[in-house]
Amino acid sequence: MIDMIENIQKEDPEVFTIIEKEMERQRNQLNLIPSENYCSRAVLEASGSIMTNKYAEGYPKKRYYQGNRFIDDVETLAIERAKKLFNAEHANVQPNSGSPANMAVYFALLEPGDKILGMNLSHGGHLTHGSPVNFSGKFYNFAEYGVDRETERLDMDVVRKIAEKEKPKLIVSGYTAYPRLIDFKEFHSIAEDVGAISMADIAHIAGLIAGKVHPSPLPFTDVVTTTTHKTLRGPRSAIILCKEKFAKKIDMAVFPGIQGGPHEHTIAAKAVAFAEAMKPEFKDYTQQIVKNAKTLAETLMENGIKLVSNGTDNHLILMDLINTKSVGKDGMGKHGAEALEEAGIITNANTIPFDPSTPFRPSGIRLGTPILTTCGMKKSEMKVIGEWISKILNNLDNQKIRQKIKEEVRELCSRFVFY
Ligand SMILES: *Cc1c(COP(=O)(O)O)cnc(C)c1O
Repeated sequence: MIDMIENIQKEDPEVFTIIEKEMERQRNQLNLIPSENYCSRAVLEASGSIMTNKYAEGYPKKRYYQGNRFIDDVETLAIERAKKLFNAEHANVQPNSGSPANMAVYFALLEPGDKILGMNLSHGGHLTHGSPVNFSGKFYNFAEYGVDRETERLDMDVVRKIAEKEKPKLIVSGYTAYPRLIDFKEFHSIAEDVGAISMADIAHIAGLIAGKVHPSPLPFTDVVTTTTHKTLRGPRSAIILCKEKFAKKIDMAVFPGIQGGPHEHTIAAKAVAFAEAMKPEFKDYTQQIVKNAKTLAETLMENGIKLVSNGTDNHLILMDLINTKSVGKDGMGKHGAEALEEAGIITNANTIPFDPSTPFRPSGIRLGTPILTTCGMKKSEMKVIGEWISKILNNLDNQKIRQKIKEEVRELCSRFVFY
């Protein structure tokens, strides 16, 4: 990997050194952030290519500048591949990231002040699903549904009742911290029955959907947004998929609505990633992600760690430290995540449903298996990692344990080098 950036080494040793250190970090730590992944060298190469040099405001064959013949080719290829991969009528591959993709959808289909129904943020919704500090919460009027207190899963009858009462213009499904399958069919049916637009934000699970290990919201959902850098394992970016009847409005909202010149190097990298996701190996990869998450979840539970909803159906796990006996109090997520980091195990503190603490001092830790699986780890490694995580969390005041595990983490990482 370092060989790909030899010019930076020559021209700018300062930046090179930082990249080199981050490379070492990615190599020597166990990265369990569920929204991250390691993309292929082919994706990295496209993303670092000369396609970055071209201005291409507009859409293929309808550009404001000359010289876009090959840019049109690559963007058209990305669009066709995205439509095929997800079985969509229309694809816009220009959004720079997940948040602007969601912004474009709201701007395209709603007026400021309109009502949107989304998931309570502390139950797993994203910032762009109505946080008061985000544009979404400032411009739109959000109503919310959450998970059931007992099962910690969505109860679609309750979602339906809330939708019937609130009569939103748009209903959002798809989350950042929900470890269970999402019933997109029922979401769409509820939206149809209350006269709302259905939107699925599949940022986290797009790869699982492409690999057919999670049910797809397409082709029936009105609009689907997704990042491309999470389980889908592409470059840091996003796309919007929609029914033909919304295509024009969506395209106008992305450009000229909120963005200027599209990042064609990233669009080229998305095209590469979509082709990779159509290969049979990608299906095997996503099956392994879920198997690994299940093994990791079981190991944690066997060691007394309480998991939200007692397990997982996808790539992510949410640990509930309040109901983990050895911790047993709220607001310990950050402390737990920092203890894990000392051992080289990277996770993130996260709220849990009905968290009595604040988002700044959450009571849970979120983790997942996309990167470990990309690195080739399987069941036996998941068991070992699950034991390590449990040992650290069950002995939060014992520094020695984390120092010892740090050595073992390094040794394991050295056997699973990806780049
Ligand atoms: C990650 C994520 C986003 C935002 O993506 P960014 O690229 O970070 O802007 C939006 N929605 C959901 C559900 C996400 O998980």
